[in-house]
Amino acid sequence: MSDRAVPTTMPPDTSSSPEGSASQPSRDFIRSIVARHVVEGRYREIVTRFPPEPNGFLHIGHVKAMALSFGIAAEFGGRCHLRFDDTNPETEDESYVRAIQEDLHWLGYDWGNHLYFAADYFERMYGIAEDLIRKGKAYVDSATEAEIREARGSVTEPGRANAYRDRDVAENLDLLRRMRAREFGDGEHVLRAKIDLASPNMVMRDPVLYRIRHAHHYRTGDEWCIYPMYDYAHCLGDAFEGVSHSLCTLEFENNREIYDWVLEEAGFEEPRTHQYEFARLNLDYTVLSKRRLIQLVDGGQVSGWDDPRMPTVAGFRRRGVPPEALRSFAAMIGVTKAETRVDVEKLEYAIRDELNGVAPRVMGVLRPLRLIVTTLPEGSGEWLDVPSFPPDIGKEGSRKVPFARELLIEQDDFSLDPPKGYRRLAPGREVRLRYGYVVRYDGHEVDPATGKVTVVRVSHDPASRGGDAKGRRVAGTIHWVSAAHALPAELRLYDRLFNVTDPIDMPDGTDFTAHLNADSLVVLGDAMVEPSLADAPSGTRWQFERTGYFWPDPVDSSPEHLVLNRVVTLRDSWTRKGGMPEVATEPGRAVPTAVGPGPDRGRGARDAARSGDPDLASRMANYCEVLGLGEDDADLLTGDRDLASFFEGALGVHQQAKSVAAWVINELPREARGRALNELPFGPEEMGRLAALVDEGAVSRVAAKEVLRELAEKGGDPEVILDRMGLRQVAGRGAVLVHVEKVLSDWPAKVKEYREGKRGLLGFFVGQVVRESGGRADPKVAKAILEERLN
Ligand code: ATP
Ligand code: MG
Repeated sequence: MSDRAVPTTMPPDTSSSPEGSASQPSRDFIRSIVARHVVEGRYREIVTRFPPEPNGFLHIGHVKAMALSFGIAAEFGGRCHLRFDDTNPETEDESYVRAIQEDLHWLGYDWGNHLYFAADYFERMYGIAEDLIRKGKAYVDSATEAEIREARGSVTEPGRANAYRDRDVAENLDLLRRMRAREFGDGEHVLRAKIDLASPNMVMRDPVLYRIRHAHHYRTGDEWCIYPMYDYAHCLGDAFEGVSHSLCTLEFENNREIYDWVLEEAGFEEPRTHQYEFARLNLDYTVLSKRRLIQLVDGGQVSGWDDPRMPTVAGFRRRGVPPEALRSFAAMIGVTKAETRVDVEKLEYAIRDELNGVAPRVMGVLRPLRLIVTTLPEGSGEWLDVPSFPPDIGKEGSRKVPFARELLIEQDDFSLDPPKGYRRLAPGREVRLRYGYVVRYDGHEVDPATGKVTVVRVSHDPASRGGDAKGRRVAGTIHWVSAAHALPAELRLYDRLFNVTDPIDMPDGTDFTAHLNADSLVVLGDAMVEPSLADAPSGTRWQFERTGYFWPDPVDSSPEHLVLNRVVTLRDSWTRKGGMPEVATEPGRAVPTAVGPGPDRGRGARDAARSGDPDLASRMANYCEVLGLGEDDADLLTGDRDLASFFEGALGVHQQAKSVAAWVINELPREARGRALNELPFGPEEMGRLAALVDEGAVSRVAAKEVLRELAEKGGDPEVILDRMGLRQVAGRGAVLVHVEKVLSDWPAKVKEYREGKRGLLGFFVGQVVRESGGRADPKVAKAILEERLN
């Protein structure tokens, strides 16, 4: 018999939560219940709790639960307790208690001095059990576990009572005391609630409250050999602590009845705590269950709980994911009663979105190929001053990058036999070396043994310094490092841990471990990175141009042996399959990368389309000359007539060509997921309206992507969706200021730390303000106000 409540075989309980139903027209039904209780003045204070069992590390599903309970407490001026739900001696451990607290702190959640342990309540819980016996509400059952299970009946059959059910109070008390006094072995007796063996809710058919387990408990040692079950211990813990809203996942829906029964019989009066359930987070391509994650750790399929491929908080931290990204992901997915699976892309979005604004750009070469600039004399070179952020980030900063005769470029960026649409170096071509010079192919050498190109020789155009192509059409722009100056680095590229979306629910019944992705970790041992990395402050995450975000592995990296984890790629490479045109492979833009699978439908194909269709060719020219679009964007929009017409249709609604183009080029293909334009449930007008809402400041770009996703799934009016999802942005300074003030007064200790120099806390404050506003404050506005107020 498991101590933890398990889902029963009952048909779904259709009754609603004690307060109202889940179908309220609100983004988050739990917050509206709490808000109503606040208005009614039902509780003196809103108190929630986060109740992890210390039997493993926290995972991203727990982040959802924490964001909800800590979030609600903060939003309603209450408090959230951390309670270790440690009623199960066999699997729990002090090391997990420590790890969980560390993870929570890292995420920025604070329980003040409200740290509790269910085990500390054992004596009080036991006293209540004796009271229940005295009231005739509990009895000692001496049947075996199997007999008890068998006699509980089924959905169609009521349970059957046995003779033990009629034991009198004195005998029950005597037996329970002797159970506690170690007179019996495991499983000889249990204490059961005396409720109703015919209840339609199986949980209510005299549930077990205590069982005998002669096991050492990490906290109470050998003091106890009887342990309370979840259904008994959890509600009592909540009631002892004065919790008002006990939030848990839907598998406990049927247990709500026993939650209320125990508290009623134990004499806790209203207004007392109640349980509310929300849907658990299920994330594609991974498993979120400590029981299964522990199997991967024990089985050596991962290097530990903090393996950067694990969906654990410790794994994300080690990988380089900032805590703000996990919190904004939690805000993005919201809270509902509907069980859904969440696409990992959403999480990756949140990570990219967080890093894009803060990660300095650098160059690093993953798989180096020598490139000799023959027009530079031996030993010559220069230090280029290179900006660390593209202009649209609005951040200052630059670094020195050495340019020299011998460079390294990606092996992928040179091709002897370039496929159609290849926009990189090849015989007869010129490319721009990012921030450097335009170079022209002169020759190459091949290793006769392997047939691989070992060296490429080029000549540079001194007039093109800084990458100015002087009006010439170059094939593309590639990144590079100076061979003599670059630092060697080991790069670890991570991919999804599993190669199926739901590894635990395979139609063929295979075990989840059979679906591990063999390529989830790729180690590149010969990478070379620009020397500026050596000077970066610790904690820096960089954007390697064209290849992704990286940071030093906190365990294995050292100044002597740089080991960099790829936090996330620049763009999802899994969904770029078919349907829509490929985006440009221009470095420096956060979106594109040529790395990864997917057809390379590049410039060549579009050039060909235009040379066969004068209408397309003239549209391209118009987009550049009349609308002022860059050549790359104009090119991408005019590869076929449908896309050009879609763009123009959107432009008819919102006349900002650049922003409309950016939506059509960068966001639309992702959400189209391989469908053709005429298969989408929305059209150009909606696209235009969405772009307009962003430009008007009604919705943030991140939130608008959510709206687009919804549009692409179901169609509709962007503005209606936006309001339904509660994503309307609070951009006005005044509105954001209110939240800033609240956050600063809520976190005096953190404010002090910030003012004493812990500037890294700024992101934490921004996150709090956004949360405080229910996700509607514009983070940029919040950040600007916070900087003013804090400095
Ligand atoms: P696991 O199934 O991974 O063992 P658990 O529910 O046993 O998880 P607990 O430590 O008991 O883990 O969980 C603490 C809190 O986190 C509970 O309130 C639980 O409902 C919540 N929680 C656990 N998994 C998820 C999830 N995937 N999504 C949302 N909340 C979750
Ligand atoms: Mg569980």
